[in-house]
Amino acid sequence: MILTTNTTIAIQCSQCGKLEFHALSLFAFSRRGRKNLLCGCGLQHMSVTSGNLQQFNVTYACAYCGETHYLRLNRHTLWGYNKLPLICPAVEAPVGYIGPRQKVTQACHEQEQSIGELAAGLGYEEDFENPEVMLRILDYLHHLAKQGDLGCACGNLQLSFELLPDRIELYCEFCEAVGVIYADSSDNVRQIEGINSMYLEENKTLHINNPLRGQHLSKTNEEVKK
Ligand SMILES: [Zn+2]
Ligand SMILES: [Zn+2]
Ligand SMILES: [Zn+2]
Repeated sequence: MILTTNTTIAIQCSQCGKLEFHALSLFAFSRRGRKNLLCGCGLQHMSVTSGNLQQFNVTYACAYCGETHYLRLNRHTLWGYNKLPLICPAVEAPVGYIGPRQKVTQACHEQEQSIGELAAGLGYEEDFENPEVMLRILDYLHHLAKQGDLGCACGNLQLSFELLPDRIELYCEFCEAVGVIYADSSDNVRQIEGINSMYLEENKTLHINNPLRGQHLSKTNEEVKK
């Protein structure tokens, strides 16, 4: 499964009643850890916070009951493959959706989904071996992307990212190119920050840096010394 770093939120405004769409990028959390989504009328629809890019606290203003509802979601649910309804517990109906743009748009038309999907989406649990390294490298990739220095040799500049416990995998959806970036030790940060532009090779798998497995061994040695 490929996870993109963008998700779409559709939510009905509790003040002006309009259905509003928002885009939420995972990159928004690499520096500040908080993102507020505002309606055109000025009301805050939603606030999303995260300290570790793994668990996300979501609060949203409910158009049905007027209260603020709270959800704690993991990254896979927020930037996942399925849409997630934003339920009002008082009326047991969705006030909006989070998920891939197409599915969210479709759901807004249908207004029909099961709460079972919500439960299924919460099943994943996964740790980063080194969240700080993961953040630093994501931040640097964002910087490269902004400058147009991240892409694929086939011409595509919009790569998909998958975050795994010890690495980031970059995918080109135009060709079969894959890029692997190890992100579990501070040496990985130094390797990546030394790269000024990063292009995948068309239809090939490219190891952008080296895994530094030795680090884990030396960690164990330190523990032995204590
Ligand atoms: Zn509004
Ligand atoms: Zn409600
Ligand atoms: Zn490509």
